[in-house]
Amino acid sequence: MEPRILDGRAVAAQVKAEVAAEVRAYRERYGEPPGLAVILIGDNPASQTYVRNKETACREVGIASAVYHLEAVTPAESVYRLLRQLNERSDIHGILVQLPLPPHLDPQAIIEAIRPEKDVDGFHPLNVGRLATGGPCLVPCTPRGIITLLERSGISIRGKHAVVVGRSNIVGKPAALLLLQRDATVTVCHSRTPDLAIVTRCADILVVAVGRPQMITGEMVKEGAVVVDVGINRVEGKLVGDVDFATVAPRAGAITPVPGGVGPMTVAMLLANTVEAARRLAGSPEAD
Ligand code: NDP
Repeated sequence: MEPRILDGRAVAAQVKAEVAAEVRAYRERYGEPPGLAVILIGDNPASQTYVRNKETACREVGIASAVYHLEAVTPAESVYRLLRQLNERSDIHGILVQLPLPPHLDPQAIIEAIRPEKDVDGFHPLNVGRLATGGPCLVPCTPRGIITLLERSGISIRGKHAVVVGRSNIVGKPAALLLLQRDATVTVCHSRTPDLAIVTRCADILVVAVGRPQMITGEMVKEGAVVVDVGINRVEGKLVGDVDFATVAPRAGAITPVPGGVGPMTVAMLLANTVEAARRLAGSPEAD
């Protein structure tokens, strides 16, 4: 059976068109566009690419973006000073610090220095806590992108057994919480899960966020399962996911490709979060 491809590029384009309309409406109402500040510290090539993609995406939808590119040796106090300024500025509604950081900077402390209302990555403990307890919050972009891709592709989540492989704060844990909120029965696996295949074979929806190229193979997946591959790995100059597409796709009911699956959704959700943050900061009733 031909698997159904969950086309992240197409759904991200829809989301971006909607965000662009929201940006226009926001601009008409408040006289300025939502503003996103991106802080990039050091010269990690992958981070530079991600930041460039975020800038381009902002431009496409009319969000004003400002990139602060700091040297790798920037002292923590200078980063905190910049964050304090950005926290105060009325033209900046979203603040994102591109991870990973150079080793002398404590990522958790830096995330906690971002005003939670402007934390468009959704990593601040206030947003994490609200996500866990079901309050209004900014939801991390990749997990929000996964759910949006499933929902807009007409895949129902309620009552399904969702297995999430990976328990990072950025992807695995928030993805599990979002699936739980939508009434899936959720199992979370990690590096100490003894027999991963026994668990993954039970999944109606399998979300894989590990960072190991093609580790999920066909025999680990139930016939007809929906497979979401979050992984981005570079192997011999080519991008591959955590799922072995060649053996998994023939068994899956639906599957995300890499590239072109979750990646574009992540950027689209950053834009959506920025507009949401701007509306909330402006006290707009449409925000929730
Ligand atoms: P982390 O390295 O933070 O987490 C990886 C998780 O995988 C950990 O929970 C780890 O378990 C688990 N793990 C490692 N080895 C195994 C194993 N053999 N079996 C089962 N679980 C295992 O990664 P991230 O969550 O940040 O990212 C995961 C992948 O997603 C990466 O490839 C990353 O590049 C990609 N990514 C893609 C994005 C996109 O937009 N498409 C956005 C963000 C990430 P333990 O906790 O026990 O160590």
